Amino acid sequence: MKQGLMVVISGPAGSGKGTVNAHLLATGEYVYSVSATTRAPRKDEVDGINYHYITREEFEERIAADGMLEYTEYCGYYYGTPRKEAEEVLASGKNLILEIEVDGAMQIKKKFPNAVLIMLLPPSYAAQENRLRGRATETEEKILARLAKAKIELEYLPRYDYVVYNENGGAEACAEQIRAILYAEQFATSRHPDAVRAFFDDAEA
Ligand code: 5GP
Repeated sequence: MKQGLMVVISGPAGSGKGTVNAHLLATGEYVYSVSATTRAPRKDEVDGINYHYITREEFEERIAADGMLEYTEYCGYYYGTPRKEAEEVLASGKNLILEIEVDGAMQIKKKFPNAVLIMLLPPSYAAQENRLRGRATETEEKILARLAKAKIELEYLPRYDYVVYNENGGAEACAEQIRAILYAEQFATSRHPDAVRAFFDDAEA
């Protein structure tokens, strides 16, 4: 059976990843990989839906047992993609979306060279700062840490396959653009290694 697409969507804090993904997932064409994290749930976040919230000890046990497809430490907390769920989704032929940061994205690209890496960006750094402050779920110290992190994350942009801009209030348009990218990706020649052989085999039949 055909393997599903491994799709990585990264974006600095305030890029609106969550909202864009919600639009993308609404159609049921993609499965969202629920990460594990050691940070506490935010208001409105639900265990098992947004993240699997686990302790540092549990996280380190999972790393030791090779239970994470990739993982990183981000602003003092562990974040990682549970291996088993991800592999099961891909093997079933469904497309999997990983909403992860740059370090994890590079680990995935190494393990899955065919993965599609998409970076979602706010229109500008200033817009990003406004969004983060507007969210008001974090302390000033955390906001500054996330803004500093964004500068580093931007350096990884050339290693991504695509960039999509989330203009103000444009989450639905972004989801549409990502859908178009993924639609085209299924026709990439690299995803059809047996095309020539199959073409001639068929002619003989
Ligand atoms: P937040 O705390 O805002 O939910 O997430 C912080 C950062 O961690 C975001 O950039 C998010 O995309 C990233 N992240 C979430 N889950 C994972 C994961 O499983 N692996 C990695 N490498 N990053 C993740």
